[in-house]
Amino acid sequence: MPAEPRPPATAGPLGLLGGTFDPIHLGHLRLAEEAREALGLAAVRLIPAGQPPHRGEPRSSADQRLAMARLASTGNPAFEVDDSEVRAASKSYTVLTLERLRAELGPARPLVLILGADAFEGLPGWHRWQALFDFAHIAVANRPGYAPHGRRWPATLSPELAAACAGRHSSDPADLATAPAGRIVPFDMTPLAISASLIRDLVRTGHSVRYLLPDSVVDYIAAHHLYEGNGN
Ligand code: ATP
Repeated sequence: MPAEPRPPATAGPLGLLGGTFDPIHLGHLRLAEEAREALGLAAVRLIPAGQPPHRGEPRSSADQRLAMARLASTGNPAFEVDDSEVRAASKSYTVLTLERLRAELGPARPLVLILGADAFEGLPGWHRWQALFDFAHIAVANRPGYAPHGRRWPATLSPELAAACAGRHSSDPADLATAPAGRIVPFDMTPLAISASLIRDLVRTGHSVRYLLPDSVVDYIAAHHLYEGNGN
């Protein structure tokens, strides 16, 4: 029997993966791909931050990080790259991006903000973080080195995050399609101890980064001499 065709990307829950992507790597790409599969997402939008508010200045420019995201997503029809945060003159606050996407896509489309466990733990430091649940569901993946997720959450979350999560937890990804926003769904991905800081460090110290990120991005980093100098 022929495989069921994928639903068009204009219907079904839309995944959103924001990040500094300095550079984008296989941890990000597997996170997006495994979220798509596990949660039944129609597509995943990769959203490079223009000016990330929670960290120092990225080592590569916003345009370079956008170019690397485009290279990395080439060939996966379920991945889209959203340049709105890169083009904006202001800091990249996720809540503002979600507000804009909600206005663009209408009130009914389920939106799913995809976060690694480290980003999820840090949510209470984000601008208007409690409003995120008004605009999107949140899907949280495990990440090596960070607290486990799922049923053990109540013991590991900060009290304010635990309070905001109360009553939102769902272990059934099918729930994401039945409401536009407001639920939290943990899911398991292949644990990959890859980080952008590790990659920047390897390049700076003259080591190979092959097989940690797509070859096209490895070539871009070499061609533009990214991450070669001091600083991380
Ligand atoms: P850096 O090392 O510079 O802090 P990073 O590798 O954590 O960067 P970000 O661009 O900050 O990458 O991450 C964007 C999102 O991807 C975050 O939600 C983060 O939790 C998630 N993420 C990144 N790498 C992984 C990974 N290996 N496994 C699971 N989630 C990841």
